[in-house]
Amino acid sequence: MALDVLLIEDNAQNRYLLTYLLEQNGYRVTVAADGPAGIELASAQLPDLILLDIQLPTMHGYDVARALRKLNALRATPIIAVTSYAMPGDREKTLEAGCDGYIEKPIDPETFVQEVEELCNSVRADGEAS
Ligand code: MN
Repeated sequence: MALDVLLIEDNAQNRYLLTYLLEQNGYRVTVAADGPAGIELASAQLPDLILLDIQLPTMHGYDVARALRKLNALRATPIIAVTSYAMPGDREKTLEAGCDGYIEKPIDPETFVQEVEELCNSVRADGEAS
């Protein structure tokens, strides 16, 4: 199994770590360092999964999620927020913006890929139910 993942993350260390973990598990990873670059890559490459940082320069992660959701070809693509926002209500705001799930930073390298897969599976199950 090789799934194409688009990672939108401005922090180079996080990009490196997440790319490493995903590639170790057979994923192909494309990275973007900000929202506009991520949206452009997403529309060009139609990834199977998008991992989205929320605190991004130039364009907030919520706005990136909303813009991605407006693209017809990406309507069913899982978008998982990976973020250190942990205030009450942040999870809800993330989901309202169009993300399907939420993984808190700092991520746990031991379980990160499994968490991603579980969230994707639940997105798929929801899609089949409706
Ligand atoms: Mn960030």
